[in-house]
Amino acid sequence: MIAAMIRATTFAGKTVAVFGLGASGRATALSLMAGGATVAAWDDGQASRDAAAQSGVPIVDLEAADWSKFAALVLAPGVPLTHPAPHWTALKARAAGIEIIGDIEIFCRERAAHCPDAPFIAITGTNGKSTTTALIAHILGSAGLDVQMGGNIGRAILTLEQPAKDRFHVIEMSSFQIDLTPSLKPTVGVLLNITPDHLDRHGPADDPEQAMQNYAAIKERLVKAADHAVIGIDDELSRKIAEQVNQRRPGCVDAFSAYGQMAPWQGYASDVLKSITGYAPPFFMRPKMNLDGYPTLRGDHNQQNALAASMSSFVARYKVGPNAGLDSLTIWRKIVNSMRSFPGNEQESLFEAARTEMGRVLATYPGLPHRMEEVGRAGRVLFINDSKATNADSTEKALASWERDIFWILGGKSKEGGIASLEIFFPRIAKAYLIGAASDEFAATLDGIVATERCVTLDVAVKKAAADAALSAGAEPVVLLSPACASYDQFKGFDQRGDAFRFMVLALPGVAAKVQK
Ligand code: ADP
Repeated sequence: MIAAMIRATTFAGKTVAVFGLGASGRATALSLMAGGATVAAWDDGQASRDAAAQSGVPIVDLEAADWSKFAALVLAPGVPLTHPAPHWTALKARAAGIEIIGDIEIFCRERAAHCPDAPFIAITGTNGKSTTTALIAHILGSAGLDVQMGGNIGRAILTLEQPAKDRFHVIEMSSFQIDLTPSLKPTVGVLLNITPDHLDRHGPADDPEQAMQNYAAIKERLVKAADHAVIGIDDELSRKIAEQVNQRRPGCVDAFSAYGQMAPWQGYASDVLKSITGYAPPFFMRPKMNLDGYPTLRGDHNQQNALAASMSSFVARYKVGPNAGLDSLTIWRKIVNSMRSFPGNEQESLFEAARTEMGRVLATYPGLPHRMEEVGRAGRVLFINDSKATNADSTEKALASWERDIFWILGGKSKEGGIASLEIFFPRIAKAYLIGAASDEFAATLDGIVATERCVTLDVAVKKAAADAALSAGAEPVVLLSPACASYDQFKGFDQRGDAFRFMVLALPGVAAKVQK
């Protein structure tokens, strides 16, 4: 039984079609019903229909239904809206002239109707969404604030608490979800980066450029409509979006870069600090954060995530959240007062205090499972679960995090291009352990450059890699599962693969599990 906690009152008295009855679809149906709507719900799979019916959701065959009586179609985000071809429900909705929306749209309407000032932080980007979302929730939660996290991570949005003035909804959004949220207008919109991904879902297969533009336009919507935007400027498309949004609404954009790029303008976080101190702040805008010694934020890519998270938490707390409208001096005093380590009132000390406080909070971030997750250690040997790395781009981030002695477990169902793009990291690999369907292909790429062993299954790879790493002379040999492949040839998903890895590692003799702080 799913408890829908947000009542969708804006559809009261109307009949709404809901297609796709996974966890979010079922919560949507219950939320609409609790708010006074009539629901007609359907899914292609019998098991999903049965589970929904058991929760009290009315099942109606939408193929046979009269669509003229529906006010809207609420679609699950996994269902194609336009490409490669519109789903049959989308065609029926369009023919009937009704809107097609998602569950986050229902949340937005509820917020607009009952509590438009409720702080709502929406996060998107091609990579790093979940990490940044979890990090923002961690930062705000550490400050003692009421935080509700969900959307594309963890809980479906309509199972969270109602929007309220002092309650921060921190919501991860995929491009599919943005596409289904026409009235999206978050308090703070965060765009991390844009690189090609799922392009088959955003445009014609024979025109990848058009698909990329469509994809970027969807991401842009999240920051364009936001009261305040926090945008990464490390790729062309995101940088262009940052410039355009800033041109339209000067002062409403804060930019960040993991590589020390500065935007020609800077937004609020910078301005506040500058107006008080007379010079550009070294913390929020400083080119790089020092994340050495933060085991849950290893790797350069986490610079982006940590900068985005610190900036957007700052802005949400002090500009557009419940404190909106405070003058800069009061805001700054509040920041300083909230820092227990604040030692004095000289300017340098203020910045030191800011740095120390944010550093302390980031250092206690527990991390997410399957993303560079530290599983444990056996003596000098470190075990890392990066099962979420299902393509070479993601695995690159992991390989870049250690300069040597990597005992790399990889393979599964390979993606186009394989691992050829990772060649510059091959000198860091002590040995590669191949599993799954991609073994032949990867062995050919690694041939003559990296010592490889075909292990077929994960359990064999874990044992062999652990034994070899224990014998290595390195100061901190790393047994790294970062497969650069989908898992479907041997597992149900990346999470099952990562859970299996964790279980196998912890069953090895002499391994001490990582203790959560
Ligand atoms: P998402 O939710 O967007 O899929 P996650 O935070 O779950 O992103 O991270 C998934 C993987 O993507 C990580 O294991 C890492 O390899 C890579 N990654 C994370 N953050 C970034 C980033 N800012 N830029 C590029 N790659 C990243």
